[in-house]
Amino acid sequence: MRLFRKNTNKIKVMALGGLNEIGKNMTVIEYKDEIIVIDAGMSFPDDEMLGVDVVIPDISYLIKNKDKIKGIFITHGHEDHIGALPYILKKINIPIYGAKLSIGLIQVKLKEHKINNAKLNVVSPRDIIKLSHMEVEFIKNNHSIPDACSIAVHTDQGIIYHTGDFKIDLTPIDGEVMDIHRICELSKKGVLLLLAESTNAEQPGSTMSEKTVGAGLDDLFRKASNSRIIVATFASNIHRLQQIINTAEKFNRKVAVSGRSMVNVVAVATELGYLNIPDNMLIDLNDISKYEDNEVVLITTGSQGEPMSALARMASAEHKKVEIKRGDLIIISAHPIPGNEKLISKVINSLFEKGAEVVYDESDIHVSGHAKQEELKLMHRLVRPKFFMPAHGEYRMLKIHAELAEELGMPSQNIFVNKTGDVLEIDRNSAKVTGTIPTGNVLV
Ligand SMILES: [Zn+2]
Ligand SMILES: [Zn+2]
Repeated sequence: MRLFRKNTNKIKVMALGGLNEIGKNMTVIEYKDEIIVIDAGMSFPDDEMLGVDVVIPDISYLIKNKDKIKGIFITHGHEDHIGALPYILKKINIPIYGAKLSIGLIQVKLKEHKINNAKLNVVSPRDIIKLSHMEVEFIKNNHSIPDACSIAVHTDQGIIYHTGDFKIDLTPIDGEVMDIHRICELSKKGVLLLLAESTNAEQPGSTMSEKTVGAGLDDLFRKASNSRIIVATFASNIHRLQQIINTAEKFNRKVAVSGRSMVNVVAVATELGYLNIPDNMLIDLNDISKYEDNEVVLITTGSQGEPMSALARMASAEHKKVEIKRGDLIIISAHPIPGNEKLISKVINSLFEKGAEVVYDESDIHVSGHAKQEELKLMHRLVRPKFFMPAHGEYRMLKIHAELAEELGMPSQNIFVNKTGDVLEIDRNSAKVTGTIPTGNVLV
C-alpha cells in the first residue's frame, strides 16, 4: 500500500500581526516539519484600551507547534518588530537571530524583563542559517535604524523574500547601501513569493535620503545662534542622532540626552560603534545650566507627544531638570505616527505658550524610513517574484500596494491581500489561501 502524503511540498506563509494594522509585525513560514518566524513586534494600545501598556500578537499557533520552531529571525530593532520578544520568550525560549545592533537592542529589552537565558545569535548580512528544509539569509537594506535587513528564505520550491521595513537610500549615513547586487542574484535563482512592506504605499515618488536632514539641521542651528536648542526624535534613529551630533560639533555645542530610551540607545549604539560622539561632547543633564544657552543641545524623546515622555514633561513644566524658557528653539525631527497627532499638537501648543520657538513637520528636518511608490516599484522590478503578498500596513496601504504590483504586470490572481491569520499555501506552481489560524491582540 502506498501512503498518500498530503501537501508535502506546500509552504505555509501566515502573518500573526501587521496586516490591516500598523505594528506588531510577525510572520510565520512553515515547511514540512520546520517553522521559522520573522520578527516579533508589539503595537501601542488604542485610547479605549485603558490600563494596557503594550499589545502583542496571539502566539497560540506557535505554542501548539513549538517543537517545529527553529528560530525567530529579526529584520531590525524597532519596537514593532522586537517588542513582543520578552513576552514570547517567557512562554517558549526559541533561538533569536539578528544583526549586531538588533541583538544589542533586544538585550537591553530582555534585561529590563530580567530574562537572561535567551539564545541570541548575532549574524551579518549575507549570512545563511541552514535548517533541514529551509535556509535563511540576511540581506542588508536601508531603514531609519542601522543594521536593518531583508530576509530571504531558500527552499526547494523557490525563494521567499521578505523585505522587512526598508527604503532605498543611495547615500546612507553609514555608507552601507542596500545589497542590490544580492537581490539581483536571488532574482536570477527565482523568487517564488515577495512579501514587501506597505507603510508608504500611498505616497507617490521616493523617500529622500537621510543625508538631506543634516543640511536642514545646520540651517536651523545657524539661525538660532543665541538660543538653547532641544531636538526631539526617535531614540532608535541612530543616524539622525549622529547628524544632530555632527551639527552640534560644527556649532561648538555640547550635547545632553534626556529620556530613558534615548539614554539607553545612546549607550548601546556608542558601545557597539554605531554612534560616534567626540570626546568631552556629552554632558550630564544635571550640568546644562552650567553652560550658556548657545553652548548646548539637548536631545530628547517625546517626538510623538507621548504623555510620559521627556518632551511632554518639559512642555507641562513637570520635568525635574529642564525648564522651557522664552527663546528656546525646539526641533521635532519626526513625523507623527497616525493616531498621535492630537498628543503631539498638545505638546507643541504648550511649548509655544512658554515662549519657545517650535519647528515641526518640515521635510528638511525629517525624512521617512519607508519606501514610497517609486522605491516599491524598483523593489518589485529587482526581485521579480512569481507571487506577491503586501505586508505591514492598514488595508488601504496593502490594497494600493497590490495595485502597484498589478500595474507592473503581475496577474491579479498571483497577488494575495491577506488578513492576519490567513494561511497561504504555496509551492513552485501555485498559491492559495486554504484556511486560518487563531490570531488576535494580547493586551499586556
Ligand atoms: Zn522599522
Ligand atoms: Zn515596522
